[in-house]
Amino acid sequence: MKTIGMIGGMSWESTQTYYRLVNQYTKQRLGGLNSAKVTLVSVNFDEIEKLQSSGEWDAAGDLLANAALSVEKAGADFLLICTNTMHKVAEQVSNSINIPLLHIADATGEKLKFDGVKKVGLLGTAFTMEQSFYKSRIADKYGIEVLVPNGVQRKLVHEIIYNELCQGVISNRSRNDFLTVVSDLHEMGAEAIILGCTEISLLIGQSDTNIPLYDTTSIHAELAVQEALS
Ligand code: GLU
Repeated sequence: MKTIGMIGGMSWESTQTYYRLVNQYTKQRLGGLNSAKVTLVSVNFDEIEKLQSSGEWDAAGDLLANAALSVEKAGADFLLICTNTMHKVAEQVSNSINIPLLHIADATGEKLKFDGVKKVGLLGTAFTMEQSFYKSRIADKYGIEVLVPNGVQRKLVHEIIYNELCQGVISNRSRNDFLTVVSDLHEMGAEAIILGCTEISLLIGQSDTNIPLYDTTSIHAELAVQEALS
């Protein structure tokens, strides 16, 4: 079994989910007392958020590159960055290590392509929904058109992620707001929705809607276990 490397803490609310899922998927595959081999470096999200909001992406990339080196030194065979947004600096991180990085947008794009989805809606932080690093990767590499919510809804989704989900606050009002955004994207033509922020599955899940949801946390964790057992 290979060792899964993780950079977590962005936020720790979703890192808990990653840790649980890689262990559950390993047990599902191997049974009994089997669990995932993991090395995790967890950063202080307050430092990351300040660098994000002030646009200091190179500094954020350096911070994650150092974390990645520690993960590699601790014995990881490959690396996950346990957040969609921080894949903005994925290249900087992967250039600083000798182990492969499993990119969250590739994991998701592969699955969407396999399922034959041609047009998808994307929910995530404003960085993920508005900048090209994520959308273009899905569009250019996998030939899938990516739709995002309107400006008012993007702001709402972004604020709920940082002010509630990353702080462990789960509310019915925000769940309803998210489901409205999901159904508006569906009306715009999205056949499915990417939960492109690793905390969104704490708020909504497939039991809340008939529109297919692609939860990046679980897709990424499942790919990690597949890789660890390959
Ligand atoms: N975990 C979130 C994501 O997947 C947001 C936190 C962050 O900015 O990294 O994008």
